[in-house]
Amino acid sequence: MKSILLGPPGAGKGTQADKLVEYLNAYHLSTGDIFRENIKNNTELGKKAKSFMDKGELVPDELTVELVWDKLKSIDSENIVLDGFPRNLFQAKALDDGLKNNNDKIDVVIYINVPEEELIDRISGRRVCPTCSRSYHIKSNPPKVDGICDYDGSKLIQREDDKEETVRNRIKVYNESTSVLVDYYKEQGILIDIDGTKTPEDVFESIKKSL
Ligand code: ADP
Ligand code: ADP
Repeated sequence: MKSILLGPPGAGKGTQADKLVEYLNAYHLSTGDIFRENIKNNTELGKKAKSFMDKGELVPDELTVELVWDKLKSIDSENIVLDGFPRNLFQAKALDDGLKNNNDKIDVVIYINVPEEELIDRISGRRVCPTCSRSYHIKSNPPKVDGICDYDGSKLIQREDDKEETVRNRIKVYNESTSVLVDYYKEQGILIDIDGTKTPEDVFESIKKSL
């Protein structure tokens, strides 16, 4: 099964992706995680991506689509959860066309619906593990030991682009470029609409039921 997690920044895509990949025994492909990994390793791609990410803008499509293809080619698993890709119509069409050429397709798009007012609070309280990329929230989803990842013991950090000013621009970019994908996939009949305001566990239960 090939699935996409769609939703605004802070909706809980990464949180649900972690649960879903375990449940489906799938590969988690997060473009944001790949860009951050490249920034950490100071690669050419990382240097190019950083200037856009710091402003809360989308990384250009040429870079992003190529990166996703390279990854998809190298993944063995039939089950893939795409998280943070596609982010606009160009990327969505490129993905559809590319998969079609391989007699493949996206099976389901899980749209996590959270009102805008809640996103800022979620993102400002987000802390992430620099090693495994799992995300926590200081109030709603804290780690067992304050500031430490439950899985690998790394010290949690705040993402650089989680500052309020950048977050506002990321939400604007979502509204302008990404939100059209809800209708795009609804028209294809593969969108499931999930209320993302419940607890992470309840949201996951709704996803499992809809699948
Ligand atoms: P969030 O879901 O919280 O917005 P992500 O980790 O998905 O965070 O994305 C962080 C940043 O990485 C985005 O603001 C953007 O700059 C870049 N990015 C991630 N995925 C894409 C993509 N598919 N296309 C362009 N830029 C992307
Ligand atoms: P995204 O990948 O869509 O940007 P994350 O999964 O990183 O979002 O979640 C954003 C923040 O909100 C994190 O701090 C996370 O712990 C928290 N969070 C995720 N799901 C929920 C939820 N259902 N209720 C409350 N907080 C949540």
